[in-house]
Amino acid sequence: MSQPVAPQFQPMHIGEEADPPAVVPPDPAALFGARAARLRKLTADHQLAPYLNFVADLAEAQQRIVAGLPKPTLPPQDEIERDAGHGMAPIARARVAIDDVALNTLERFLDETADVAMPDSAAAARDGVIACDETERRAMIANVLADSLPVEEIAEHVFVAAAMQVHFARLAALLPVEKLKPVGDGACPACGGPPATSSVVNWSRSQASRFCCCATCSTKWHVVRVKCVACSTTKGLHYLHVEGAADTIKAECCDECKTYLKIFHAMKDPELDPIADDVASAGLDLMVRDKGYGRSGFNVFLAGF
Ligand SMILES: [Zn+2]
Ligand SMILES: [Zn+2]
Repeated sequence: MSQPVAPQFQPMHIGEEADPPAVVPPDPAALFGARAARLRKLTADHQLAPYLNFVADLAEAQQRIVAGLPKPTLPPQDEIERDAGHGMAPIARARVAIDDVALNTLERFLDETADVAMPDSAAAARDGVIACDETERRAMIANVLADSLPVEEIAEHVFVAAAMQVHFARLAALLPVEKLKPVGDGACPACGGPPATSSVVNWSRSQASRFCCCATCSTKWHVVRVKCVACSTTKGLHYLHVEGAADTIKAECCDECKTYLKIFHAMKDPELDPIADDVASAGLDLMVRDKGYGRSGFNVFLAGF
């Protein structure tokens, strides 16, 4: 079905010096709309088309709520500076208060998904979240921010997590990007969360550089290629892809820690989206998991898959 293959990269243009930024902040005003458009495009002749359309509907709802929400509140600056010395990300998910703006974001997202066509199970899950009181909603948000989704309530938590993607992208966009410091290869420098996937990009001055994209806040951070983001080894890595599928999406598999992270070759296809194409390439996850590797990246839209 697949053979280990060495990653192929285009050479940098002569005279162009790679100087990738350490961190690229998200643009919440554009992020979710672009993701929705990409998901729609991916539905063509796709086995998962109904699900991709559902996730696209959710992304459009995410997009619609961004503009009308009140400005989120960052943790106090003295706390951010104090904890940065201990390697803590400024909006570390364990620390950010679940405040009125966070709760409001969830409420708005639930309202905006009222007309989304969805399977009965998803509709029941949405109704379940709507029926929750504030204490229960706070508990669900806390689960999402701890990457701890109760197995029997994954569908409910997908709605909560989608709302928190909006909230955290808006928080991350407020951070002074030049002050963000790496907190580890596999952790977002803004919120400390895991990546969804990584992409080798063709941006100006970042030709052939790899960036991980945060599953929660969509901040991107630079990690050199051919390096396991879970255990930071550079040894024993190999690359798998599904035979017959586009070779722009591969799984970087680590034999040291037996995990994998998808790597998107956005140099070849700049439209690849860290979340949308991750969902659409779920077949690669099945194949790689079958070979004994665990997923190091997170994507709530693949939770329970
Ligand atoms: Zn993040
Ligand atoms: Zn590893």
